Amino acid sequence: MIRRREMMRCMSAAPLILTNAGFNRDALFPGGKRFAVTFSIDDGFWKSAQEFLPLFDRFNYRATFNLVTSWITPMRSGVGDDYNQASSHGTWTNWKTVLDRGHEIGSHSMTHPHLPQLDESEVKRQLLYSKRRITKRLTLWGRKTFAFPYNDSSPAVREMAGRYYLAAREGTRTGEINQPGAIDFLGVRSWWPLQHNTLGDIVEKIDETRDMRGWLVIGLHGMNGEGWHPITTEKMTGVLDYLSKQNDVYVDTFKNTALWLMKKT
Ligand SMILES: [Zn+2]
Repeated sequence: MIRRREMMRCMSAAPLILTNAGFNRDALFPGGKRFAVTFSIDDGFWKSAQEFLPLFDRFNYRATFNLVTSWITPMRSGVGDDYNQASSHGTWTNWKTVLDRGHEIGSHSMTHPHLPQLDESEVKRQLLYSKRRITKRLTLWGRKTFAFPYNDSSPAVREMAGRYYLAAREGTRTGEINQPGAIDFLGVRSWWPLQHNTLGDIVEKIDETRDMRGWLVIGLHGMNGEGWHPITTEKMTGVLDYLSKQNDVYVDTFKNTALWLMKKT
């Protein structure tokens, strides 16, 4: 089994890891922007979403919300994650309004498991059925993106994610800032500001991304007390305000940014 999985990984993953050779670095991001920032928000906390959305609207930014499809009312079942048990994850009607405001709805699986601990058929079910449910409930056609629960993946899981998704996000296993021209689109890195991180820390990471001409995917959960390491309205406003004053940053959804970078290679 291991050998077969390794073979599958070698066959499918290798072409996805792009090298710098031949990569066009001119006008790296849309509008000739120098670097990119994406907000990738996990778990579908509805109370927090209602706090995030006016802020994104105020600065005219679009983000990616990654939903756990079995946690959404009326299906809501099996919320095993401690940080999620007491929270509402909204209804599909709620999330349709988010989509209609221009944000991306991505999948964060059906039930939020550690995917590498599951057998192949269950991994497939988590990936495929969550995608189908988003398609059906939101009448959302087209390719979608995935965020690994707990940022936990393996070569076999990433390989399978590539069968059903355009791109997938993981954590900081191999680093924090994505370098265009050398991105594995099934293991896009993300950086997670923790509660003790100050606005200054986040600004520093944004500036570091500018220096690298990179793509920073900022991972978030909830706001003002909800979820794992929630951000505050004050800190989030500070981040968006800072970004809005930079004339060389491209801020867009995970899918749009991934698509743009894929087309440039
Ligand atoms: Zn999660």
